[in-house]
Formats: sequence, C-alpha cells, structure tokens
Amino acid sequence: MFELKNKNGVEYYTVPSFESTGAVRHCYTTKHGGVSKNEYESMNLRLNCSDSRENVEENFRIICDTIGMNFKNLVFSNQVHSDKIYNVTKKDCGKGLFRDKIQEADALICAESGIPIVIFTADCVPVYFLDPKKRVAAIAHSGWKGTVADIAGQTARKMIHEYGCREEDILAAIGPHIGVCHFEVGGKVADIFREAFGEWALVRKEKYHVDMQKVIIRQLADEGIKNVACANMCTYCNGDMFFSHRLTNGRRGVCAAMMEII
Ligand SMILES: [Zn+2]
Repeated sequence: MFELKNKNGVEYYTVPSFESTGAVRHCYTTKHGGVSKNEYESMNLRLNCSDSRENVEENFRIICDTIGMNFKNLVFSNQVHSDKIYNVTKKDCGKGLFRDKIQEADALICAESGIPIVIFTADCVPVYFLDPKKRVAAIAHSGWKGTVADIAGQTARKMIHEYGCREEDILAAIGPHIGVCHFEVGGKVADIFREAFGEWALVRKEKYHVDMQKVIIRQLADEGIKNVACANMCTYCNGDMFFSHRLTNGRRGVCAAMMEII
C-alpha cells in the first residue's frame, strides 16, 4: 500500500516500506497543492504544454520543498515509451528544468545522494526500486509498450549487474496507474499482450482489458523481487486525485514519481 500525506495542502503518496529504510526521500504527487489552473489544476509538473513555465516551475519548487529535495538538482528525461535506462550521476544535476533533459530514456537509476530522479505519468505505470543496503534508487516508466519490453525487469537486472544489488535486497513499488477496470485495449494491443505473456494478462469484458500491474509483478518476480508495494489506485477511477490521460482525452497535466537517495 501507499500512504497519503498532506503538508500545508500539498498532498502526495509515499511507500511505507521505503520510508522505514531511512535511505530515500520519495513521493508520487497528486493534483493537489500547486498553482496551475483549469485542466492543469493544480500540481501540474508537465513542461512544454499550454500551462505556463512559471507555474510548472513553481509547482516543482513547492513539491521539492515539501519532500525536502533540492529543486536545482532534479533530473528527468525525455520519455518515449522505450526500454532505455539511464544511469544518473552528479554531472546530470539540473537536467530537465535548467538544462536539456536526458534524451530518450524511460527509466533512471541513481546511486548518489541528493539527486532526485523524476518519472512522469498520467495513466502509465511508475515502478520504483530501492536497494537500501547498496543505496541505489531507480524509477521506470512502464506504459503498455514499456511493459511489453519489460522495462521493469530490465531496470532490476541493471541494478543487479551494474550496481551489485542483490535481488533479495531490492524493494519495489508500483504507483497509481490506469487499472484493469479502465485499461481497455483494441484487438491489436490485446494480441501483443497475449503473445508476450499469455491469456492471463487480459480480462475479457465488452472488449479486452490489460492488467499491467499483474504483468509487472510477474516481471519483478522473474528477477527475484518479491517485496512489491502496490498503490492499488486507478488513475481513471481517481481522476480527482491524479491526472488521467484517458479520462480527459489528453487535456491534462502530469503527476510525478520522485525519489532521491539521502
Ligand atoms: Zn479504473
């Protein structure tokens, strides 16, 4: 489970199993506590849309102050539904808000303290990883394409092979995303999931629905990761709390999964 926090009207979720390690600051943001208006109301963290840069920057400042992160160090990437994973280091500090974003990466890993990594979602699945012993943090953006490409499993493998993490030490968390209740897909996408995973990944209603959480839990288990906290909240069902692409036909901001090693 995730836990809802409220600091001066800024609402965000945290993962109790991560919090109790004392190794990270982290959150999944909600729509509440920012300064943006209309479809971006109010904690919109999406740059390059019709919301003003000033608003988005102020929202980043508010959420960073709330969580205790240094807003100048935020690192984020240009997310393109790929399976590319980027290793973040000190030289990347400020990439995204103050310098060009990291190009084309859908997962970020960082083992240095004080560098907040950020992944944006509005229905796609944010998957968090933490090895509190080696002090390695990672977040993956697992939309349906990323899920088919096993970006969550690949991120775990990179932590194990490149950072020396042991699978039994890795804690994972699956944040709010579009649930199987609302993730209806066309025949083509259903076929891709059936071929990649089998019939169990699909639920037949009027049309097919994909259960991305079930698939990702299986992918994590395949890497030996069994400690997985799930938010179990559908972004579409909870459109008052989270930005949902489907619910709004794309007229929306984004929420963010953020984490830094302390
Ligand atoms: Zn739903």
